[in-house]
Amino acid sequence: MIDTHTHIYETEFDADADEVVARAKEAGVSMVLLPDIDAASYPRMLAFQKRFPDFCRMMCGIHPTSVNENYKEELKRFEREIDRHDFVAVGEIGMDLYWDKTFVAEQRLVFEHQLAMAVERDLPVSIHCRDAFAETIASLKKFDPAKLRGVFHAFGGVVDNAREIFACGRFKLGIGGVCTYKNAKFAERLPEIPLESLVLETDAPYLTPVPYRGKRNEPAYLQYVAERLAVLYGVTAEKVDTITTRSAREIFLL
Ligand SMILES: [Zn+2]
Repeated sequence: MIDTHTHIYETEFDADADEVVARAKEAGVSMVLLPDIDAASYPRMLAFQKRFPDFCRMMCGIHPTSVNENYKEELKRFEREIDRHDFVAVGEIGMDLYWDKTFVAEQRLVFEHQLAMAVERDLPVSIHCRDAFAETIASLKKFDPAKLRGVFHAFGGVVDNAREIFACGRFKLGIGGVCTYKNAKFAERLPEIPLESLVLETDAPYLTPVPYRGKRNEPAYLQYVAERLAVLYGVTAEKVDTITTRSAREIFLL
């Protein structure tokens, strides 16, 4: 399995990173992708990847909730760093109007600038979208769908949302622990979307799947997401692994 979105370089894992990586490998996770957030966490991501070079691949990008009055500084960092390392994607980028709408114009500007840089470099994007579906789609539609590819991370929508996303480019949907929650209505309708359109992710340390809901999440728990998808789609967990791993390799050129 490939965990296509995990923040295990964050301070929550300082005390036991070796064990976290060992447990992930033991659970069948062969690789994890680290999304960038902002200037504050970027050095931690670089250091973590150096520590586990075969296990981690990195993205470069500015998270929408890190867009504020300092956005020009963040953009400068992004532009300086994007060609300095072997990044597998531009991410995580997008729109988030859940926490704060103050910087909606700046969020859009930063998002679209990063989309353009990704297209220029033929890199995929990892998209974060929260309470901003229409806004996110409107930005994506400004680009040629033949040139856009990536993952809509933490997807929790319905088949209509998926159709709109797929019309914007070669996109997969990132599915994590939320699909294991009893109250997650979207999960039951997920099989209306082909399994070939999904990739696995934990978003650790957040969104921990059942049976560890409420505790810190980690890549080893990806197996519970795969098992839940296996039940929903009526296939084996091995088949979920094979198909989602193939999709992740295809999008991120792993
Ligand atoms: Zn994330």
